Amino acid sequence: MWDKEYVWHPFTQMKTYRREKPLIIERGEGSYLYDVEGNKYLDGYSSLWVNVHGHNHPELNEALIQQAGKIAHSTLLGAANVPSILLAKKLVEITPKGLTKVFYSDSGSTSVEIALKMAYQYWQLKDPIRYAGKKNKFISLREAYHGDTIGSVSVGGMETFHHIFKPLLFERLEAPAPYTYRLTENNDAEACKMLCLKALDTMLREHHEEIAGLIIEPLVQGAAGMITAPDGFLRGVRELCTRYNVLMIADEVAVGFGRTGTLFACEQENVEPDFLCVAKGLTAGYLPLAATLVREEIYEAFLGEPEELRTFFHGHTYTGNQLACAVALKNIELIEREKLIDSLVAKIECLAQNLEKFHTLPHVGDVRQRGMMVGIELVQDKDSKKTFPMHMQVEHNVILHARQNGAIIRPLGPVIVLMPILSMSLEELEQLTDITYEAIKTVTAQAYASCR
Ligand SMILES: *Cc1c(COP(=O)(O)O)cnc(C)c1O
Repeated sequence: MWDKEYVWHPFTQMKTYRREKPLIIERGEGSYLYDVEGNKYLDGYSSLWVNVHGHNHPELNEALIQQAGKIAHSTLLGAANVPSILLAKKLVEITPKGLTKVFYSDSGSTSVEIALKMAYQYWQLKDPIRYAGKKNKFISLREAYHGDTIGSVSVGGMETFHHIFKPLLFERLEAPAPYTYRLTENNDAEACKMLCLKALDTMLREHHEEIAGLIIEPLVQGAAGMITAPDGFLRGVRELCTRYNVLMIADEVAVGFGRTGTLFACEQENVEPDFLCVAKGLTAGYLPLAATLVREEIYEAFLGEPEELRTFFHGHTYTGNQLACAVALKNIELIEREKLIDSLVAKIECLAQNLEKFHTLPHVGDVRQRGMMVGIELVQDKDSKKTFPMHMQVEHNVILHARQNGAIIRPLGPVIVLMPILSMSLEELEQLTDITYEAIKTVTAQAYASCR
């Protein structure tokens, strides 16, 4: 197999990967993926959280072909192109109020790097004397995930992924994550919220002079295992950032473009961040493209004559790529024309109902849902909340079981994640949860029997 011979897969232990038969996807159609042997699977992870309208979408294809017939790429360094202008205008119109300028890049990680660098430079430009040696650190939450480049790993809080790189990273302060299931006895969201906001308040009171910004995944900490924040937490964080003069960076790379039930997660708590990072769903799963949106006063701080060196010296070769911008524009047009956000209400409700039965399973400790994002946390037993030992590979076996029954899903640690394509039908959503239910029920029962 050439896959095993030549390809090194991301976030994958290649030793175990090579022991198994690889899943090689050849094509997609709507909510389904097809492998090279012709097997058909429901795409239960939106091809890693990116797909919005389904695979092989005729209008998205057409937008791409149309643009390719004109030009595929020209640079944004000191020049402009049509799709990137139209998309920037559109993004400013649809994102939370106050964000007025768009800086493009190619991935969620780079959109975060840009926000971090801009936030730091902003304070230095604003008052180089007052902030000399200050406002050079960032706050992020425990279990935070903001990407894999060194800057975005620096604000990451996931031990498993980030520990090894510690010596390479810049300094970060860690605020507690509102992980209600693990922080409170009986899933008390309100208590969890108060606890976390109080700790953040204390941290900011003590350290705000050193802090350039706070970065947060609004409403759902995705890679951490779909940790859903209590109502009002995000709003509380915004208020604390304002009170302590710290910039708020909303990383909506995962939650943006409808995933939580609104176009952007910040909308749900009327939060206006200082920076907004978007990527994954921006091109509906077609091409790598990201954007960092900023408030006007941040943009203005960078204005000056060339010799003043206030320029933001950052840019990627493919910044503002025309093909990607053209397909992103079509994505947003489809979301609006098909009233996708309105259509989610029934789907979110359907998911919630189908998830009810998971609570009765003996090895499901917690079921978390926010919009179309779902995390099902597996435990050995519900009282101790202890997870299955890693070497048993319980979560991986759940995924393989589901795959055999026609659905592709992925775990994050002990959490089985469902991230359905937003265009999925109610029947497909039901099918996805049913396959997942059977897989969890069968595999955890076997695992529990063998570890007793
Ligand atoms: C996926 C993700 C990123 C990183 O995006 P890439 O495109 O993989 O670099 C950053 N932040 C969040 C919240 C994400 O989910």
